[in-house]
Amino acid sequence: MRIDRRNFLRLFGTAVGGITLASTGLSQTFEVPEKLLKNLKTGPGIVTWKSTICGMCNAGCGLKIKTVDGLPVYVKGNPTYPVNSGGVCPAAHGALEVLYHPERLTQPLRRIGIAGENKFIPVSWEEALNEIISRLKKLRAEDNPERLAIITNNDNDISNLVINKFAYAFGTPNYFNFSYNSNNTQANYLQTGVNSEFDIDISKAQVILTLEADILGTDLSPVYFTKQFSSIKEESEGRVRFIHVGSHLNLTGMSANQFVPIKHETVSAFALGLAFVLIKEDLIDNEFIKKYSFGFEKWQDKNGKVHEGFKDYILKNYYPEKVSKITSVPSSTIIYIARLLGNNKPSIAIGGNSLGESTHGVYTHMAVNALNALLGNFSLKNGLIHFPNPEKFDPPKVDEKAKKGLERMRVDSNVDTPFNFSGFSISDFANNINRNTHYPIEALFLVKSNPVFQSINKRALTDALKKIPFVVSFDSFLNETNVFADYILPIDTFLEEWNIISESPGIPFTHAGVRQPVVDRFHDTKSVTELFGIISKGLGNKFSNLFDSNSPKEIVQEEFRKIYSSGKGAITREKVSGQWLNFIKSRGWHIGRYESFDDFWKQLLNYGGWWNPEHNSFKNNSSFRTPTGKFEFYSRLLEEEAGKLNDKNLEKLNIYAKGDLLFLPHFESQEDGTGSLQLVLFRNNVNKDGSLSNIPLLQELFGLGIKHYWDTWVEMNKITSLKYGLNENDDVIISSEYGSIKAKVKIIRSMPDNTVAVPIGQGHTNFGKYANGFGADPTILLKDRFDIFSGKQALQSGYVNISKTEQGA
Ligand code: SF4
Repeated sequence: MRIDRRNFLRLFGTAVGGITLASTGLSQTFEVPEKLLKNLKTGPGIVTWKSTICGMCNAGCGLKIKTVDGLPVYVKGNPTYPVNSGGVCPAAHGALEVLYHPERLTQPLRRIGIAGENKFIPVSWEEALNEIISRLKKLRAEDNPERLAIITNNDNDISNLVINKFAYAFGTPNYFNFSYNSNNTQANYLQTGVNSEFDIDISKAQVILTLEADILGTDLSPVYFTKQFSSIKEESEGRVRFIHVGSHLNLTGMSANQFVPIKHETVSAFALGLAFVLIKEDLIDNEFIKKYSFGFEKWQDKNGKVHEGFKDYILKNYYPEKVSKITSVPSSTIIYIARLLGNNKPSIAIGGNSLGESTHGVYTHMAVNALNALLGNFSLKNGLIHFPNPEKFDPPKVDEKAKKGLERMRVDSNVDTPFNFSGFSISDFANNINRNTHYPIEALFLVKSNPVFQSINKRALTDALKKIPFVVSFDSFLNETNVFADYILPIDTFLEEWNIISESPGIPFTHAGVRQPVVDRFHDTKSVTELFGIISKGLGNKFSNLFDSNSPKEIVQEEFRKIYSSGKGAITREKVSGQWLNFIKSRGWHIGRYESFDDFWKQLLNYGGWWNPEHNSFKNNSSFRTPTGKFEFYSRLLEEEAGKLNDKNLEKLNIYAKGDLLFLPHFESQEDGTGSLQLVLFRNNVNKDGSLSNIPLLQELFGLGIKHYWDTWVEMNKITSLKYGLNENDDVIISSEYGSIKAKVKIIRSMPDNTVAVPIGQGHTNFGKYANGFGADPTILLKDRFDIFSGKQALQSGYVNISKTEQGA
């Protein structure tokens, strides 16, 4: 088929679902640059399919991209890639719009206006890179390597490993991951010693309880869990029970057998109420608890002090009637769910990302972990929860300058609670810079990250950005943060880059996908990996050989060479099921049938990835890396750090627990705002965390379920709407002492009373014409609070008022 412009746009339109943008008054779809259509006009119309890994979020699904005469025109899931087995979520369909986007950055920019004013001029790569290298050389020459800070997004790809290595060799402890989805692993660290998300195998579970977890929508690797969920439902003919407990009816809740509405801040009490019933009725895994856990029974420390165990503490404090009063969930429901879990093992409780988004989020996650320990899920016998493979980061050799820099306190260290394990706090980062708390940050790299949009305290962060003398952004688009940068370096989109994506969140087997360019670069861009290679070389001396190669392709190849040499696993050639699984299992998961690495590499590019169904890391019951070598109901790691604080310090942080309670999972009522309604903020599987709000197709899909597009809505139940005199589609103002936003009312069954839920991701101010001014950013309603142990922002701790707008009244 010969393709001209009209045909191409038609193909492209088909690829993205044929959706027009007429509802917004914006043009139907954006133009594909003329130079890119040249091939199509003269070419023979050859169709090819290329495998790659999706980059629209970090779930790591495999994709197949259809190209016509070399230009990508269609996206679908790779049927042989085990993470998604051919499925994709709606966001993947926006991939081509990222590639062809008219607002992409096409060459390096230097700021000429005042910071934040959005005035830049194009400059050469040479100018930008020379300036960056000379600033970095100066920091090292003056023995201040810690004054470089790097904030990246939450990607699990090779570029983050490269940056980590660079930061380490340079000598800065200030290398941070920040996004709405980061910092969720603190409770796991405190109770198991493993500072990572757990991998979860739901395939064997008889009961699956999700607690604020949207595993089919936005948490972990949602396409994988959606596929698992459907096949479990089908194969068990409905015998496996799915229960969702949450403050908002998300995709997972909609698919569950039972949805239990609950106020967000009380989920920890609910989980501990289930623990009460399990303990009381002896439905726990006694063998695991006896051999592999610490702190369940009464115990004595080395000074002879007797500590009340988790068991007695739960039996005294979390009986169902009391938990029912806290949570408003009937005690009969608590007893019913606990018995279901306890009598139908293996059964599992999965806590969602949003559980961590309160001032006591770590304690809530600890309560969910405790529940899983009682159910025996950390044992080999059940095998539902795995520890991911050990950290791949292989620290490079460092010189004396770097050693000193790495020993410095992190710039985000909280002055009152300098815990050495705490996660990154964007709030402390900004406030410490503004108050000159530790030392100045003289250079900041922002890698594919937009922390101003995702921070509660935007003002503090923009003030800090103005204070930092040299800010460099590595990104494909302008955004709310990089308008403060001195230089913006344009980077490849994921369809143009080499990368390796492994350890997708929550996936219970080892795997690695190859991301290969499906098209030559459209513009004068570079990849992040390549840029850090160039910068390292420019620094000279020992940095010249920091990476074996500057070529991202060679770096990716090298990683796969290690996999090839291990002789383990197999390229994902066939649909991952029955016979194929049995075949590789019968060979001990070792395939070794490739003639050479070149043969392995060729097949890899063709099929997209490699996997090893055997999980490496959890081979025996002693994999816990805690001080006791066991699962800790009572966290000794937490005791080591938080035990140093006095009550006054803790109260400053809204933590009122005293004595042993401080180191045990527990429920604490959180500080109320002046509003009368609890505010729940939720993500949606279309624009994820707002980083995809500049993609027109995804804006068009945003709100599809409730038929309210490109805008913000507020969900509430009928009782709440009646109480406030509101009807469906009313325009309302949601306000708190910190700000106000507009939204449209959507009445949703099953929301908890006196709770309103608003999607995050809209309300951009500097993210291009498809994002700016559409909808509202509800984070402006929140007080700047966070969990002191994880650093995670308290996005779910807001209280608001609601009223009709003047037009609506
Ligand atoms: S879940 Fe993430 S990685 Fe998977 S298809 Fe959707 S956007 Fe892509």
